[in-house]
Amino acid sequence: MTEGPPDFRIDHSELAHDGEFDEFAPEDLPYYSDWHGSFEKLPWAFTDEALAEADADVAIVGAPFDEGVSSRPGARFGPRAIRMAPTAWGTADAWSIQLQDEPYAKLTVVDAGDAPIVPTRFARALRVIHEKVYRVARAGPIPIVLGGDHSITYPSVAAVARHVWPRKVGVVHFDAHADTGAEQWGNLYAHGEPMRRLIEEGWIEGRNFIQVGLRGYWPDRATFDWMRAKGMRWHAMTEIEERGSEAVIADAIVEALDGPEVIYLSVDIDVVDPGMAPATGTPESGGMLARELLRAVRQIVSQCELVGMDVVEVAPPYDHAEITAILAHRTVMEAISALAAKRR
Ligand code: MN
Ligand code: MN
Repeated sequence: MTEGPPDFRIDHSELAHDGEFDEFAPEDLPYYSDWHGSFEKLPWAFTDEALAEADADVAIVGAPFDEGVSSRPGARFGPRAIRMAPTAWGTADAWSIQLQDEPYAKLTVVDAGDAPIVPTRFARALRVIHEKVYRVARAGPIPIVLGGDHSITYPSVAAVARHVWPRKVGVVHFDAHADTGAEQWGNLYAHGEPMRRLIEEGWIEGRNFIQVGLRGYWPDRATFDWMRAKGMRWHAMTEIEERGSEAVIADAIVEALDGPEVIYLSVDIDVVDPGMAPATGTPESGGMLARELLRAVRQIVSQCELVGMDVVEVAPPYDHAEITAILAHRTVMEAISALAAKRR
C-alpha cells in the first residue's frame, strides 16, 4: 500500500480553544480593538480620587492645544494620535529590547486624561494645563504630557517646579528652535516664547536650561544674546554632527544638574529630521535621527531623577503612515521603560 500525501495542516492553523468568545481579555486584544482611548490601553485615572487610588508611578496627561502656533496648526490632535499610535503588544507583557526589561511589571502607569481645554480661550487653556499637571504631580506620579504645541511647556514646567519647590529643576529641551522669543504678534505666551517666560518668571535658572538640536534660521542673533546673558546653554545640531549625540547629551545632563537634582525633559518632535517626523507645524531640515532621540531619552532618564516630561508639536494632519505619532509614542515608551529599568 502506497503512503498517502502529508497532512495539509492549515486545517489546524489555529490553536484550539474552548469558549473562543471569551478567549481574550480586553487588554489582550490589539491596540485598536475595544480601544477606550487611553495611552497603551492603560487604565484611566481622571480625578484626584482616582489618582490617589491608583498610586501610580507615571501618569499620561493630554494637552490638546495648538492656538500658540506661528505656522501650521494641528497639534491639538496630537494627544489623540499619540495615544492611538500603533503599539506592539499593548500593555501587560511589554518587553523593551533596548533595555531588556518589562516596563509595566515594575511600574504602575495610568492615563490621567486631558486638561479640560476648550478652543478660543488661550489663557484659560494654559491655566487649566497648569492645574491638571499640578494635580497629577501632587498625587505622586511623574506627569508625561502629550502636546499640543510648545506653549504647553510653560504651564507644565511651572506646575512641576511648583510641586517640587524649593528643590530646583533642570530642563533638557530638545528642539530645532530655542522658543525663547520675546513675543509673537503681541502674544507673550505663544509657542515661540515659553522658555523665555519660564526663565524670566523664575521657574528655571537660565544656566540649567539646556537646549539640544537647534538649527535653521530662528530665533535671531539678538535673542541668542538674551539667552547668553541669562546663562542658558545650548548644543546646536552642528555640534551633534561633530561630536555625536551621546557625548553631547552627557554634557547636557551635567549642565542641567549643575545645581538642581531633578530634571524635566521637553521634547519638541521637530528636533528630529522632517524625513522621520514630518507631522509638525514648523519643520526644519537636517535634524536628529529617530534612533538618536530615543537613545538620548534612555540616556537622560536612566541617569537623572525625572520629575516631568512632555512630547509636543505632533500635528497629525501632516503625518504620513503615522510616522510621527509612532515616534512620539515611542519617545514616551523609552522614558517609561528607562524609569522601570532603574528599579532593577
Ligand atoms: Mn518648540
Ligand atoms: Mn520647534
